[in-house]
Amino acid sequence: MTRQPHEILKKIFGYDSFRKGQLEIIEAIASGRDAIGIMPTGAGKSLCYQIPAIMAERTAVVISPLISLMKDQVDALRQNGVRAATINSATERDEAAEIFRETRRGGMSLLYVAPERLEGGFAEFLRSISPPLVIVDEAHCVSQWGHDFRPSYLNIAPVVESLPRRPAVAAFTATATPEVRRDVISQLGLRDPFSITTGFDRENLFFHVEHPADKNAAALRYIKQFPTVSGIVYCSTRKNVESFCDLLRANGIKAVRYHAGLSDAERASSQEAFIYDRAPVMVATNAFGMGIDKSNVRYVLHYNMPSNIDAYYQEAGRAGRDGLPADCVLLYGARDIMTARFFIEQSQEETRPAARRKLRAMVDYCHTTGCLRAFILNYFGEKEVAESCSACGNCTGETERAEITTEALKILSCVYRMAEASGGRGYGSAMLVNVLRGSARADVREAGFDKISTYGLLREHSARTVREMVDFLVAEGYLRMGDDFPTLSFTGRTMPFLKKPTPLVMRRSEEKKASEERIKKRSTISNAADSALFEELRALRRAIAAEEGIPPYVVFSDKTLTAICELLPEDEEDFLEVPGVGAAKLERYGEAFLTAVREWRRKGQAKG
Ligand code: ADP
Repeated sequence: MTRQPHEILKKIFGYDSFRKGQLEIIEAIASGRDAIGIMPTGAGKSLCYQIPAIMAERTAVVISPLISLMKDQVDALRQNGVRAATINSATERDEAAEIFRETRRGGMSLLYVAPERLEGGFAEFLRSISPPLVIVDEAHCVSQWGHDFRPSYLNIAPVVESLPRRPAVAAFTATATPEVRRDVISQLGLRDPFSITTGFDRENLFFHVEHPADKNAAALRYIKQFPTVSGIVYCSTRKNVESFCDLLRANGIKAVRYHAGLSDAERASSQEAFIYDRAPVMVATNAFGMGIDKSNVRYVLHYNMPSNIDAYYQEAGRAGRDGLPADCVLLYGARDIMTARFFIEQSQEETRPAARRKLRAMVDYCHTTGCLRAFILNYFGEKEVAESCSACGNCTGETERAEITTEALKILSCVYRMAEASGGRGYGSAMLVNVLRGSARADVREAGFDKISTYGLLREHSARTVREMVDFLVAEGYLRMGDDFPTLSFTGRTMPFLKKPTPLVMRRSEEKKASEERIKKRSTISNAADSALFEELRALRRAIAAEEGIPPYVVFSDKTLTAICELLPEDEEDFLEVPGVGAAKLERYGEAFLTAVREWRRKGQAKG
């Protein structure tokens, strides 16, 4: 008998209620209709197709771009007692033959395949089984407008059309731009698809932008708060990845690194150490992350600013997939903007205007004095966005707004006077800051800058504040910073501003308060980790995972462990009430976790 979505949700996946949009799309797909679901990372896309696949009681085929992603999904499904398998380039011949047999026999609910499979004999196999449902995960890969175009995705539509009975086709992606959406529908040949775009908000994520004088110190200070919890640090260059990873290791933090210049072996071992919770911190370029389903990433820290919000939100969104509080911290500096601009100027000419617009929005995000969450949601075109969220650095008052029009005029005049005094030689921001603050340094005097009229004009401000203002003027396009040497010069916007100034408002982080205290208060992520029971359950989870050769978060998510700490289940019935515990997991792990809870209680009573 076909089971109902709610029953499957509870009995198999162990959850009580659907999230926004899930039930609607599940019902549409189950009724045989094509569908397109646009949902942000972590929103819960997988259940939207896994449940109709289980309801179909025949094999549904899932096209997915990455082996690691497929493997994770299959492991997780099997843990929940669902019959699933993957066929990809790493699958041995014998194993594949067994999977084919099993599928023919009707013993498989979901079969995950890479799109490249569709080119060979596998299409013939599909014609012979005629699946009721074909699911396309990461569907934006079919679009040339997207950032991950995969030509083999173009094979999906012809293969679907060649099946004896046309299946329902359901496509899922987190990419929301209208071009990509249109492309997904037309390239996959979706017919009158049920379409759903759930909100882009991820309520459990805390957004924060910092403008530190010393990124290494700021990032290190942050990570040292919780040296054992999982986090990702994104850097824009391989060099930054290596040096920051070394710095963490030198400070006793177990960190691994990942970028395209490392050997396959090192990349694989880094990834594994991170996923299996052996190394808490992953320092990586954006080459890392797609297809990583690790649900217990508690923070994503950007050491450099990405070149657009789309990329930023996708990367930051890898935090807190389990729904527990997680941080998205962006450390930003004016150099980041110059790097991004440089790459845009190297790119194909026709793509540059759009890329510049997107960079502009990213820079605005770093400088906005308003709600960071609202900024992102507005960027994605979300309607009825609340003005303030009380869960971002700006809303919780860690920054202040300052009108800096007068200071800006002084800074720009100083750049002008310094160029005049030195016969047009360019200087970087360090010298500019020293001159403005009236420094007695020898290099200032030797250049004769202690004689110019702008010397010491910003004496009352700290060096950090002056530097922030200079960076702000670079970000706003009133000053240009050279690519090879970071020397400052005027742009087309400078003279008009000097002649007719308009008010300039800058967001400033409160001086000195970037202290541990504040980070701790802001971040909820250390709370769960403080609990002794949580630590014990985490160790138990790790031991089980190691024994079974699966990642710890596939055994139970952090959310499930937290719920166990709160509910303190005494028997199997209680244990089934824990979110993320279905029948299969109760049977597999119930005893071990119940024993751990009992043991912990006993110890507590003995102590108390
Ligand atoms: P996405 O593919 O959209 O990035 P996932 O499908 O990986 O997200 O889901 C993210 C997490 O949310 C997973 O740990 C999943 O088990 C959990 N989840 C999904 N739907 C629900 C639900 N209705 N209730 C509770 N947890 C859910």
